[in-house]
This record gives sequence, C-alpha cells and structure tokens, in this order.
Amino acid sequence: MPEVLIAGGGPAGLAAAIALAECRVSVTVVDPADCIAQTRAEMLAHGAGVIMQRLGLGQVLEDALRIKAVESVWGTAQLQSHGATPGLGLHSWGVDRRSLSVAMRARASAMGVKIVKGRIGHTRKNDTGWQVDISENGNVRTATSSYLIDATGRPSHIARRNGATALHGPNLVALIWNTPNEAEPIMVAEATEDGWWYAVPSRCGSTVGFVTSAESAKRVQNAPGTILEHAARTLTRIPIPKSTTPCATLDCRSAVLDRASESGWVATGDAIAAFDPISSQGLFNALSGGFFAGNAIADAVEGDAEAPMIYAALAARTAERTHASTHLQYAALPFDTPFWRERANLNFKRQHSETKAEEHAL
Ligand SMILES: Cc1cc2nc3c(=O)[nH]c(=O)nc-3n(C[C@H](O)[C@H](O)[C@H](O)COP(=O)(O)OP(=O)(O)OC[C@H]3O[C@@H](n4cnc5c(N)ncnc54)[C@H](O)[C@@H]3O)c2cc1C
Repeated sequence: MPEVLIAGGGPAGLAAAIALAECRVSVTVVDPADCIAQTRAEMLAHGAGVIMQRLGLGQVLEDALRIKAVESVWGTAQLQSHGATPGLGLHSWGVDRRSLSVAMRARASAMGVKIVKGRIGHTRKNDTGWQVDISENGNVRTATSSYLIDATGRPSHIARRNGATALHGPNLVALIWNTPNEAEPIMVAEATEDGWWYAVPSRCGSTVGFVTSAESAKRVQNAPGTILEHAARTLTRIPIPKSTTPCATLDCRSAVLDRASESGWVATGDAIAAFDPISSQGLFNALSGGFFAGNAIADAVEGDAEAPMIYAALAARTAERTHASTHLQYAALPFDTPFWRERANLNFKRQHSETKAEEHAL
C-alpha cells in the first residue's frame, strides 16, 4: 500500500509527488489523462524559477520562451507597458502546459513515483487509513493509502467529499484559442465592455483567451463568428484567432476552500485556492503549494501531525492576499458596464452542491 495517494497529476499533484519521493515516502498519483495536459500557453511568473529548479525542472525553463514585457490596454485606450514582473523589469516564461506536464511526469517517474491512469471517486476513511475507488474505462477498483492529497484542481474532489465547502467569486469563463506566435515575445491584455482578452506566447505557439461572464460565453458559443468579428473591429493589440471555434471553454472564477486539511487529507494547488488568470499566479501557486504540501505530508508520515495544518494555514493566507490584489484590476473599472461593476467587489459565495469541473472541449 502506498503511504500517500495523490488525486490529480497537474502541476500541484506532480510537485507534491516529487517532494514526497525526495523524502523517500512511497507515493502514487492517479489522473484520468495520465498526467498529460493539453497544449496551451500560460505565463509562469519570474518568482517560480527557484521552485522549478528545486523540483529538478530547470531544463523546462531553459527551453521555455522568455516573456520580456506585459502590455495592457485597460479601458482608456492608452497602452501601458511594464516588465513581466511589474516594477522589477524581470522576465517571466511562456510555458506550454503539455510540455510542462511531460517533463514533470518524467521527473516524478524517474524518482519512483507510481502513476496510475484513472479517476478517484468515492473515498472512505477507517482506523488504518483510506480506501478509494479508482475508475477507468468503466472498471472500478479499490486502492488503499495512509494519506490523501487533493490536487484535483477546481473540483476539489477529495476535500468537498470530506466536508469542505468551496467559496466562489463571481462567475468567469475563458474561451481559448491556440494560434501561431506573433513576432515579439510579449504578453498582451486588453479590456473590452464585457470582458478582457489576453495573448500568451510559448515555444509551441500562442494562446489567445477571452475572459468573460458565463452568460456572454454562452452567447459566443451559440454564434462563435460574431465575437471574432467584434474583436477584429475593437481590439488594438490582441492577434485575432483564425478559427471561429475556441479549443476549450474553462471555468476561471476565483475560488477558495473553507478548510484545506483535516485528519488524513490535505488540498493543494487550484483545489485549495483558484485564482483568476489575470493574476498569472496559478502555476506558481500550484508548483510551490504542491511542493510544500508534499513536504508537510512527509513530516506527518514521520509523526508530525501538525505539519499539514501549518501548511494549510499558510496556503489560506497566500490565497487571501492574492485574491485581494487581483480584484483591483476589476475595481479599476476600465469600462462602466455590468461585467466590470459586478466584479469590482470580490464577494465569495458558498456553493454546497457537488459540481464537476466546468471544463469541456468544444
Ligand atoms: C484560461 C486560464 C488561463 C490561465 N493562465 C494562467 C497563466 O498564464 N499563468 C498562471 O500561472 N496560471 C494560469 N492559469 C491557472 C493555472 O492553469 C492553474 O492554476 C493550474 O493549472 C493549477 O494546477 P493544479 O495542478 O492545481 O490543477 P490542474 O492543472 O487543474 O490539475 C488537476 C488535475 O486533476 C485531475 N483530476 C480532476 N479530478 C480528478 C479525480 N477525481 N481523480 C483524479 N484526478 C482528477 C485533472 O484531470 C487534472 O489533471 C490559467 C487558468 C485558466 C483557466
């Protein structure tokens, strides 16, 4: 029986697995996509360089595109430009999520982490530890472990099944397209009346996203050509995708759990706190949070029962600070429209019902 079972093999789950393997704790990661993400470019904040090196992933940064500046057109039409780490003039990285997952999976496997393709369903706790159901292709089997790490991303599957409640900010959805790179390695963001657009380059091409309300996203899905025609007329800096159909529609609301650890389980990455992509902090949070969650569970295995609680308190504080600074972008009200007004105040709402990740390929 593995000491630790990790639900979810995204950046947080694999970072936790690498940390645990380093501490010689036996660990299994369960993920429905075998830990391999779809291609999409995301911006990795400069500060993540240290944790990437620590996880043995320095080569990923060597291979990634350096993003030298962020340009934003926020309402009043003038172009604001700053270094990718505002105020410091430091670069960030444009990372392809698929390449990152391939590298992290290889690193974890090389360190002895077992990777199982499947989805964790029901979980039961008894005196000796956990029993969890893992389903794959309609077959369900049961696995056991002493500890569980919830790295399932926004669904927070383990935490919510064990009594935690997710609190969500106002609805927010991203429609994304993968496109060829523009000439310059910069990230661009541009506000419109009913949302904001972004373009992030990576070595595997750029991802262009339109972040908007759920209602507006539904209208776009019903008539995809119209949004691109509107974009072509109004946007000044964003490259307009050629395909009318987005490659994915992703939930990107701010979210936080009301508790992130209890006896025998701990949550990490987006499962504990998910950030609006405007913050560009999600990946950094997943990599560093996963690393520290793994170390906290390794300490617990050694008998330090408080370590996961200390980790959870630090993670909650980080989430609080990031959410507080992120919503200022909305409070700047680049347009005085319902989209911006509704999101100018960050009001978290409780959501008790069990939801699936609102991610679906179109
Ligand atoms: C549109 C968009 C743009 C973004 N852009 C940026 C950016 O530029 N920079 C940045 O830093 N961040 C960005 N983010 C945030 C970043 O993508 C996330 O913060 C990051 O993916 C979180 O990693 P994670 O490992 O916690 O979760 P995920 O990457 O969501 O991984 C969770 C994994 O768990 C698996 N899983 C789910 N349920 C189960 C289950 N029951 N059993 C087993 N496995 C399960 C999933 O299949 C998945 O593989 C963006 C997010 C969005 C939506």
